[in-house]
Amino acid sequence: MDDSEKSSSSRQPPPPTPAQPTSAFERWRRKAMLVTGLGVTEEERLEDLRMHQTRQCEKTKTYLMNYSPPVVFMLQHLKLSGCEVPPQNILCAPCDWSRAGGFSPDPGAVVLCSGHFFSQKHMESTLVHELVHMYDHCKFKVDWSNLRHHACSEVRVQRLEISSSAEASSPAS
Ligand SMILES: [Zn+2]
Repeated sequence: MDDSEKSSSSRQPPPPTPAQPTSAFERWRRKAMLVTGLGVTEEERLEDLRMHQTRQCEKTKTYLMNYSPPVVFMLQHLKLSGCEVPPQNILCAPCDWSRAGGFSPDPGAVVLCSGHFFSQKHMESTLVHELVHMYDHCKFKVDWSNLRHHACSEVRVQRLEISSSAEASSPAS
């Protein structure tokens, strides 16, 4: 008896390589499909949009971290308090629609909800808001599960926002 009726060769054909848009033309064609929505699923189109929004968000984030006076101010003071915030701890990500940003105390990280910002100013105020929470967490060891602590931090953030917008508008009276 022999194995001849089994497969004559033990070698498997190589697995088909997934269709990668390799050439510039293929990439362009793919992009055109995503933009027009022709030939791609709604999910693929949304995924492309999310990636685009996240790239835009990252760009604006980098700009703000270097050139926005209130953001630079907060980052400097966090560093002076021993809680330096590296750029990778401020991240752009898709979120649900209920919020524009968030702060995670452990590890100290800020999430900016990509696609939720209607202007650079909006992202700036959101980032400053979350950095104030981070500062409170660093400086005063806020217990975020304690509602009174959390509320206290929110009140501080709001007061700072009101006073800084009052300065900016410089009343005529
Ligand atoms: Zn808050």
